[in-house]
Amino acid sequence: MSRMLRVGGLVPLTTLDYPGQLACVLFCQGCAWRCRYCHNPDLIGPRGSAELDWCRVLAFLQRRQGLLDAVVFSGGEPTLQEGLPAAIHEVRQMGFRIGLHSAGIKPAAFAKVVGLADWVGFDVKALPQDSESVTGVAGSGAANWRSLDHLLDSGVDYECRTTVHWHLFDPPRLLELAEQLSERGVKRFAIQLVRTARMLDPELSLISPQTRQAELWAQMRELFPEFILRG
Ligand code: SF4
Repeated sequence: MSRMLRVGGLVPLTTLDYPGQLACVLFCQGCAWRCRYCHNPDLIGPRGSAELDWCRVLAFLQRRQGLLDAVVFSGGEPTLQEGLPAAIHEVRQMGFRIGLHSAGIKPAAFAKVVGLADWVGFDVKALPQDSESVTGVAGSGAANWRSLDHLLDSGVDYECRTTVHWHLFDPPRLLELAEQLSERGVKRFAIQLVRTARMLDPELSLISPQTRQAELWAQMRELFPEFILRG
């Protein structure tokens, strides 16, 4: 079944995508949302123009045994692919730790695989009622937050992160989002400021982001044992 995993791209070495681990990243093809700031639009469609055969991916990983600590399944949205659990199993058998990047687009599918990972980088798009304005999909907020509950219930190590483009957020809403995450029990939260001009919605590239939010970041630091600001 894992031979059905559609991998749209691969980064052979990263220290950023799984904290503390030397990892490679497999970008799984396909996503059901359309986030306006998505910087991987080539991965959204169900089939990609640069897909890698799974056997080639495994051959690459064999050559990296002993050199890399972990493999991160990213996307796109990896949990939408039925072949993911078998692929994770194969990669773990090779001795790698497993990282997973997900927004929990389908909570039932996310719940099935979250326990197979050693670490999850989980995207919280926005407050539930605001998510549609980011993802373009009705109901995405409820799904996103239900999967967050699955993650917190799973006991798997994680980081929650929210990507911020100041056209889609304002500081009070972002603080409210952080407060709700803190109340939910989130311990590690990262803000990722959009820093690329390549986005699904080209209009966002034309809007200058605000940059000075020192007070907001100070308030957020008070809410979490670990707070990280990127970008
Ligand atoms: S969830 Fe959003 S940002 Fe992530 S791959 Fe899908 S469209 Fe892009």
